[in-house]
Amino acid sequence: MDKHSHVMGGSTAERRINCPGSLHLEKAVPDPESSEFAERGSMLHAAMELLLTADPRDVNELNKMLDQLEGQDLGFDGHEITRELIDEKIRPAWDAWKDLLVDFDLQDWFIEQRVSLEVVVPGAFGTADVLAKDGLDRIHVVDWKFGDGIVVPARENMALGFYAAAALYDEDPELIEFTNDIHEEVGLHIIQPRVGQDTVLDSWVTTDKWIESLVDLAAAAIDKAHGDEPPLKPGKWCGFCKARPTCPAQTALATEAISKSPAAMSSIDLAKAMQIADTLKGWINDVYKLAQQELEDGATIPGYKLVNKLPRRVWTDPKEAEKRLRASKYKVGDIYKKTLISPTQAEKLDSRLYNRKLHDIVAMHSSGVTIAPESDKRQAIVSSAQLLTNALPEQKQETETGNRNRKQE
Ligand code: SF4
Repeated sequence: MDKHSHVMGGSTAERRINCPGSLHLEKAVPDPESSEFAERGSMLHAAMELLLTADPRDVNELNKMLDQLEGQDLGFDGHEITRELIDEKIRPAWDAWKDLLVDFDLQDWFIEQRVSLEVVVPGAFGTADVLAKDGLDRIHVVDWKFGDGIVVPARENMALGFYAAAALYDEDPELIEFTNDIHEEVGLHIIQPRVGQDTVLDSWVTTDKWIESLVDLAAAAIDKAHGDEPPLKPGKWCGFCKARPTCPAQTALATEAISKSPAAMSSIDLAKAMQIADTLKGWINDVYKLAQQELEDGATIPGYKLVNKLPRRVWTDPKEAEKRLRASKYKVGDIYKKTLISPTQAEKLDSRLYNRKLHDIVAMHSSGVTIAPESDKRQAIVSSAQLLTNALPEQKQETETGNRNRKQE
């Protein structure tokens, strides 16, 4: 039985709903080889499945289990559960799970549960990391995220919404019983442990109406996908699309982007260009990756060739180099480089020591300002030009603001 649906599953729900044309474009592309990060993520999912199944009663039992996990590959060749992964990923994920149990009074749950939306959308199914029910008969979906890249929010998360919808529509007798008479509220939760980040659990409680509207969107999108000329719409959901390197909508976006010089853009044009640039970043990476792969496989890409990366000198025998340097006139301080580890590295080294003795001498120091989308949780910085405008009398402010926004007209 397939583990992933090519039609629609949790990880593709947002993409299919927003870009129905992705269904056929992706079908035409073979599945890429699993990446190292994906394999590591799957191994960590397997570790969480083991922990939740064993359900250690107290911290001693938990520690024993974690010690047993250390050094195992859980069937993922070339990977290993290290002490670092236990401290940075598995233990914080377990702690967040325990918080969730208490906060929402979770009573009963399925782990790695296959759920199917096929009665509404043929071929749509997926596997929920955890599907739970609480004391108020509300259902909950929990997703483990072990990547350190993008923070995935629970709010309006279509992947979690898809799993909840599929659980409600699944015709498996056990699931029918599980979701029978459920309350109209649904809890969606992301557990994402990241180094240096305190918040591991993100929760959003929604209603069955939101879930139903998602089902309608999913059904309409798959209808469009099977119709004539299914629409293609680039956006943030392009990230993991297999068709991205060859997608005509991405190529059209690139053509549109280079047709205008940034210097001549108004603020509205700039806002649009920023969105296009965000979408194209991934496409550009994919184009480079694909071109390199083609060249490595022996294909010709006119105007391009493979070369060695810029070489840098390395010791062929570091021990011998050390011996010779130490035998020379130079002092130890000249030949060794020592720098103090950073607060993040100290926390990684010993989180107890960090929390008890070091954290009061840590300050957050930003190396400068950067641009972020409006939705970013960090507080917006008021520019000095804006501060100056605010300090001016009202009439003058209008003139100044008018001058700055002139390009929007
Ligand atoms: S790359 Fe984006 S626009 Fe193109 S098919 Fe995939 S999701 Fe749609």
